[in-house]
Amino acid sequence: MDKRNQITIDRDKCRYSLYDPLGCKLCIQNCPQGIFCTLPVEKTRKTKPETGKWEEPTVWQLLVAWEDNCNLCGYCVNICPYKAIKVEVV
Ligand code: SF4
Ligand code: SF4
Repeated sequence: MDKRNQITIDRDKCRYSLYDPLGCKLCIQNCPQGIFCTLPVEKTRKTKPETGKWEEPTVWQLLVAWEDNCNLCGYCVNICPYKAIKVEVV
């Protein structure tokens, strides 16, 4: 059977955040193959009391989108401050 790359993000350890200035984005910013992406996973609609206008806060999640393109350089594993990424060939 053919082997393939498997990249796993431990979501209990990962501190990714699109909006939090202190949230981490190191893997998505530094992977030379651009294999990470983000996806909106939650949308809510609220009305601002002051303006009555709709606002739509969105929660974004870090995903591995293009595992096949990974060159197994290990850069993401080494740069992740929380040891949240595992790269394997399975
Ligand atoms: S091992 Fe290298 S190419 Fe693969 S996901 Fe990590 S940084 Fe990207
Ligand atoms: S480097 Fe680690 S903590 Fe930072 S976004 Fe990537 S997986 Fe999450």
